[in-house]
Amino acid sequence: EEGITVGELAEKIGQTPANVIKVLFVLGTMVTINSSLDDEQVELICLEYGYETKKKVVVSEINFEEIEIVDDEADLTSRPPVVTIMGHVDHGKTTLLDSIRKSKVVDGEFGGITQHIGAYQVDVNGKKVTFLDTPGHEAFTAMRARGAQVTDIVIIVVAADDGVMPQTKEAVDHALAARVPIVVAVNKIDKEGADPERIKGEMSEIGLMPEEWGGETIYCNISAKQGTGIDELLETLTVVAELADLKANPKRYAYGTVVEGRLDKGRGPVATLLVENGTLRSGDPIVVGTAFGRVRQMLSDNGREIKHAGPSTPVEITGLNEVPVAGDKFMAFETEKMARHVGEERQKVKQVKDRGMNSAMSLDDLFNQI
Ligand code: GDP
Ligand code: MG
Repeated sequence: EEGITVGELAEKIGQTPANVIKVLFVLGTMVTINSSLDDEQVELICLEYGYETKKKVVVSEINFEEIEIVDDEADLTSRPPVVTIMGHVDHGKTTLLDSIRKSKVVDGEFGGITQHIGAYQVDVNGKKVTFLDTPGHEAFTAMRARGAQVTDIVIIVVAADDGVMPQTKEAVDHALAARVPIVVAVNKIDKEGADPERIKGEMSEIGLMPEEWGGETIYCNISAKQGTGIDELLETLTVVAELADLKANPKRYAYGTVVEGRLDKGRGPVATLLVENGTLRSGDPIVVGTAFGRVRQMLSDNGREIKHAGPSTPVEITGLNEVPVAGDKFMAFETEKMARHVGEERQKVKQVKDRGMNSAMSLDDLFNQI
């Protein structure tokens, strides 16, 4: 069976055949306009152009955030929201995350909370919600700074006995800048001196007018410590998510973002990944940042071994050749050859960058030198 030719592919992606030939040349293959390309070559060309067309950077850096793989509308299904909790220190973020987790852990199934992988998923009346359990808004900020926005909904926690504090304002600013729906959780309503109405007033002044005052922001009064209002908060999240109409294509190869990376003495590099689109399967060849390998072992957030993970699912994987960092993007490929190639290319670029050699070349620069 004959594959697509260079000329045909060029036309499809709106490039000249000469450009396509250049890319393959740079990648080490000589072709002509009539050569037919195999699937790997086609994917590489698309990778190069998804990247090349938007930013002029180093030819060998293959930046998956920029890859445009258009999913067929018919393949899209709804996916769970990814929620981040932010707010001022001591206002109850950790307590809330624990409280949500506890309220949904099936008793005895895994002996309670077994581990902490930086993200978890809960079931709210049959609907899933994914929480990023990263250390506060620093991780969120770091990820955003790296262009990795994975959050669909932000919960701003504000203590009812304290009110808007500097990090509350900061968190609100981040969330507004990210243009994601915000839910305010007014926490510690069990405390003496708690005044939820005063909090609404203060939050309105920084841009979050409550719905009941004619604004757009949903407020939930909770006590994270006593578990009050948690179910209502979770239900609110599912409603907000439904309005946001979040979709993904479980039929494609997975891509997403690293939530955490660490080196485990016994298991080697371990990464917590959030699958944003596609389905990740154990055994998949994968590139994570500049690391690559095959998904060897894949664990769910509750430590159970799983074989596949769809959109918005957090997983912990092993099988990489180095430890990735939070905010790195990952992508699964059909073949190990492709994953290795992309991983090695990205590593080369990283080495160049690390050496501080500011000699990043565009594809055209490089070709002109050959
Ligand atoms: P974080 O810094 O935002 O993660 O805040 P923590 O979750 O660590 O909470 C800070 C302190 O507030 C801890 O001592 C919690 O026990 C307490 N706390 C959190 N939520 C509540 C609540 O709903 N009611 C009361 N009374 N105390 C709370
Ligand atoms: Mg905390």
